[in-house]
Amino acid sequence: MLKDDLKNVEQRVEEACRRAGRSRDEVTLIAVSKTKPIELLREAYAEGVRDFGENKVQELVTKMEQMPGEIRWHMIGHLQRNKVRQIIDQVSLIHSVDTYRLAEEINIQAKKRGRIIPILVEVNIAGEESKFGTSAEDAMLLVEEIAKLENVRIKGLMTVAPFVADAEENRPYFRKIRQLSVDIANKNIDNVSMQILSMGMTGDYEVAIEEGATMVRVGTGIFGERIYHRTGDAASGTDKTV
Ligand SMILES: *Cc1c(COP(=O)(O)O)cnc(C)c1O
Repeated sequence: MLKDDLKNVEQRVEEACRRAGRSRDEVTLIAVSKTKPIELLREAYAEGVRDFGENKVQELVTKMEQMPGEIRWHMIGHLQRNKVRQIIDQVSLIHSVDTYRLAEEINIQAKKRGRIIPILVEVNIAGEESKFGTSAEDAMLLVEEIAKLENVRIKGLMTVAPFVADAEENRPYFRKIRQLSVDIANKNIDNVSMQILSMGMTGDYEVAIEEGATMVRVGTGIFGERIYHRTGDAASGTDKTV
């Protein structure tokens, strides 16, 4: 049941915070509701969830229209430039900015509406060929370029770690991106903050919290397994082959 699964995740988040000597309110739990019907989102909402993550523009827009207004919507999937304007009015945070051209389009649409859009720069921290995100090596330059755009604000970094059987395998990657965010913060770039580190999913969010995540994105652990009409990892939406 969603209620029990959510409670279980919440408890594990609390325990990971305690182990790491961190306060629970340093970590935002984002409920990743992609592919799930609106009834389940309502159930999660009734349990107090206010941060929802989606990875497809059309699905995000449809769900935003049907859910209460005070929800914070997180765009966590690959975003095409021609779809930016569909989400720009209501999205709270775009986690998946990995090119200057995308940031530029967000800036144009944000300017038109007199808004400043908070974004994260997505880093492909393990250098996986199949994944979106800028390389760790290019991240600093990309941040410096995007920082010049007036209507976007970089708030931190995001990564999708490799799919592994043992979460411990991802600890070095979480450490590496955390260090990268410290290095960027130390540059004191105008308009750039590194307060958010979005990392950790169902398989590895506890390790991510121990390594400094401030946002974890949990889907399966809260809503149960996703059923795709296509098979394979590609359908998860974090993968380039979609
Ligand atoms: C689907 C997805 C998640 C959640 O994955 P689970 O393993 O189900 O928790 C997190 N982040 C991104 C970017 C996703 O696409």
